[in-house]
Amino acid sequence: MKNRIFILIGPPGAGKGTQAKNMASLKDFVLISTGDLLRENVGKKTELGNTAKSYMDKGELVPTDLVARMIKANIEQNIGKNGFLFDGFPRDLAQNTLLSDMLEEFNLDIDKVIYIDVKDEVIFERLTNRRICPKCKRVYHMRYNPPKNDELCDDCKVSLIVRDDDKIDVIKKRLEVYHKLTQPLVDYYEESGKITKINGERAPKEVEAEIIANM
Ligand code: ADP
Ligand code: AMP
Repeated sequence: MKNRIFILIGPPGAGKGTQAKNMASLKDFVLISTGDLLRENVGKKTELGNTAKSYMDKGELVPTDLVARMIKANIEQNIGKNGFLFDGFPRDLAQNTLLSDMLEEFNLDIDKVIYIDVKDEVIFERLTNRRICPKCKRVYHMRYNPPKNDELCDDCKVSLIVRDDDKIDVIKKRLEVYHKLTQPLVDYYEESGKITKINGERAPKEVEAEIIANM
């Protein structure tokens, strides 16, 4: 069976990670979140993680060759499964070319791009209150989607953490990078007709229902 290829795109804080975890388990897709993979490498202090950290802490994109290595290994390991869901990749037009080349090698193509649209003003409030589970990567918001028990993950019961890059200055930089480098990719996908735009400024369940209806 041919793998299906889905991409989740949108500004930082749009809710990609929140939705990606549900979508992947519902459709039994392999989830490839470059942000999660990079943070895992940072946590383990691998060579890749140490290099990536200096870019991530500043809110800049990590060099594409580092991301490419991670992605390629992941695709190779999981080829033949139901499908892939990419969260946070591709991030610019060059990464899109890289992905197309990699998919071509496996005779695959992008099926659909889901674009979660959220305004910059909403993003600051979301990201300054975000917490993540360091173990399962589940995403919480201390007001909109709080854990049941203080600051513990509902599933893993380990202490939630604040991401190193969820600081006002770094959030500003990440938004700048998004508008400069990722927005042109959204425009490009719009021309290809493969993109579905979803209003991300609604309750997570409503966003989820619309995404699923479009998968
Ligand atoms: P991204 O992966 O796009 O950066 P996240 O999924 O990590 O975004 O979500 C960013 C923050 O916003 C988290 O704290 C999350 O709990 C919260 N969030 C996600 N979706 C919604 C939503 N629809 N409404 C309100 N808050 C949301
Ligand atoms: P995210 O978890 O998607 O919000 O990404 C967090 C940070 O990881 C970004 O600000 C970048 O520094 C880095 N990152 C994640 N994905 C990529 C990517 N595809 N290309 C380059 N850098 C990335």
